[in-house]
Amino acid sequence: MEDKIKIIEIDGVGFSFNANRAHERDGHVYCRQCGEQIDSEPLACLGSKKIIFSRNCRCDRETEAKRKEEEIANHIRRLKEECFATSRNLISYSFEKIIEPERQEVIIAKNFVKNFKELAKNNNGLIFHGNVGTGKTYLAACIANKIIEEYQIRVKMRNIPQIINDIEKRGFDIDKNEYYRLLCSVPLLILDDFGIERNTEYINEMVYQIINTRYEAKKPTIISTNIPLGVIMSGSNDIDKERIYSRIREMCIPVKIAGEDIRREIGKLKLNKTRELLLGER
Ligand SMILES: [Zn+2]
Repeated sequence: MEDKIKIIEIDGVGFSFNANRAHERDGHVYCRQCGEQIDSEPLACLGSKKIIFSRNCRCDRETEAKRKEEEIANHIRRLKEECFATSRNLISYSFEKIIEPERQEVIIAKNFVKNFKELAKNNNGLIFHGNVGTGKTYLAACIANKIIEEYQIRVKMRNIPQIINDIEKRGFDIDKNEYYRLLCSVPLLILDDFGIERNTEYINEMVYQIINTRYEAKKPTIISTNIPLGVIMSGSNDIDKERIYSRIREMCIPVKIAGEDIRREIGKLKLNKTRELLLGER
């Protein structure tokens, strides 16, 4: 509908309003929809002149709140799309859909989200280990989604073959470097299915560079892997693997995904502060 501008005089000051949206009653102007008064108190302007501003009514405030909400929702959607890239189905993974929410690894994952800022400061990440098909990817994706919703920050979840593919897709070195820098600096990186990649010098070097740069920059990393935890914890004779493992040992707290008691494993770490943050024992 076209604006129908009307001007009235209030305390000797002209006030214009859209008559389609508001109407005059007893010398003031009110919104037709919510009934709130929209003419402000006359304000002294330059010299002896006065001016009356139009103020937002409840409808305006509600429209603005809705716009902000939509903006945040769009921002979250874009962050999630960027997080999972081609694995879009992971966007739907959420804690609310987990059938046994009382399982310890689920509690830890939720506490990781809740205390993310504090854990990130200490560079505490997680390593999800356990047999194939125990839901490691599912739980990691739940964390990614929830972190994005709660903090609206960038998260990336990739496995190493996807990273190699992403890098090779970028023809120019400058684009490759940019992508690589992003992996090293994103507030949370989730390396899914660590260990499925081919064991080559090039790949080992790349993985080490990413993990080590994040280690030095104090950026937390979550790793999910089918490699038995003992192999990572006891050290490898393979020097290329061992330098990756040693960084993982320093950064990532082991969480066994199988419903078994991991309290013991975390207890052994003697990281009291971290234990409190993850198990919720305060
Ligand atoms: Zn209104």
